Amino acid sequence: MTFVKGLKCRECNQDYPKQPIHVCETCFGPLEVVYDYDRIKSSISREKIASRPNNLWRYRELLPIDGEPKVGLYSGYTPLIRAYRLGEALGVKQLYIKDDSVNHPTFSYKDRVVSVAISCAIEFGFDTVSCASTGNLANAVAAHAAKAGLNCYVFIPDGLEQAKIIGSTIYGPRTISIKGNYDDVNRLCSEIGDKYDWAFVNVNLRPYYSEGAKTHAFEIVEQLGWKIPRHIVVATAGGTILPKLAKAFNELKRVGLVEDGECKIYSAQASGCDPVIQALKKGTDLISPVKPNTIASSIAIGNPADGYYVVKTIQETGGWGESATDEEILDGIKLLASTEGIFTEPAGGTEVAVTKKLVQQGRIPRDEPTVICITGNGYKTIEAVAGIVEKPFCINADLKNFDDLYNQLNQPSREKAVAGKR
Ligand SMILES: *Cc1c(COP(=O)(O)O)cnc(C)c1O
Ligand SMILES: [Zn+2]
Repeated sequence: MTFVKGLKCRECNQDYPKQPIHVCETCFGPLEVVYDYDRIKSSISREKIASRPNNLWRYRELLPIDGEPKVGLYSGYTPLIRAYRLGEALGVKQLYIKDDSVNHPTFSYKDRVVSVAISCAIEFGFDTVSCASTGNLANAVAAHAAKAGLNCYVFIPDGLEQAKIIGSTIYGPRTISIKGNYDDVNRLCSEIGDKYDWAFVNVNLRPYYSEGAKTHAFEIVEQLGWKIPRHIVVATAGGTILPKLAKAFNELKRVGLVEDGECKIYSAQASGCDPVIQALKKGTDLISPVKPNTIASSIAIGNPADGYYVVKTIQETGGWGESATDEEILDGIKLLASTEGIFTEPAGGTEVAVTKKLVQQGRIPRDEPTVICITGNGYKTIEAVAGIVEKPFCINADLKNFDDLYNQLNQPSREKAVAGKR
């Protein structure tokens, strides 16, 4: 049973039947899935959702599948954590972390979009799935394709972190590393997509893929007791998730799962790749592409496909955006780890660093429910932090050795003792 009416062009409103296409034939605008909200309203309820398994398919009426979900049966439903200690550090009373760093099975928000895209790919009859990726997407596509028994080709820029590469190749896809950055990868993939009859999750299946991002917001609202937060901060790469958070909040109201609530949405980018923030600050929705230069490789997209809609959504919701330098990103990673015990990658460090700025600027007030989306996992990007953490102290397996070290570490001038030991 499906509640999908079809696809609609976001620019000229032309309707299309549900099929694996992503641009309007008339105006080249992007296509989006439309639903029969009245029928969903009479079919869905909080109780029905609560009775379902803890995965992203619990909101299936608002997802574009016809039959039963094919993959992602353990994806989504990640923790929403009340972040008391980080909140104190940032001066925010009601702070939450939506922790997609522990998404199943590949530890980033991409497990959501890929679960939906590959379920649709199977329904459309594809036998090969593919993607253009900055790393996390390739990991998710490779893993979910393996689980579904599909052929898989993933395309990544060269120079990615070791764990992001092995985190794809271990699942047995063909991994193609392109000499260049993500924007070069993406350009090649649209040519490959024209020639090969594959399901490119973020190209020809993009309308379905991007719907999966809504589940991040659905879960936040359910986990807050069916309340929409006042502020939410999320990183922007290609621009998929940010507009879909807004769409998700609106849909929950439209189908009667929440009565009211408005959420301001904020974009976080790295200073070394912040085309959306630059446009936002210039007051234009025209994105000028940039050449990425940042440690935040997973969000290093210089020409974001949906950048225009990110700016529009920020303006419509009354949010804002900021960028963070590599140094601020590393501080953000350390701050999250040392206050909440969560190890995120540079994209998450960006989300923390930007939240800190927005609070300092007074854009996010200190007394309203605020969610930081943590979209990726730090174990994949060890290289980024290897140089900024304290090295282990190496001693013999001897109690006297440890006593000496302990006394040194706990001398009044601790810094000196630590320095001396190195
Ligand atoms: C892909 C990604 C994002 C956001 O990407 P969008 O394309 O803007 O949806 C954020 N964080 C991480 C870790 C990612 O991998
Ligand atoms: Zn159109």
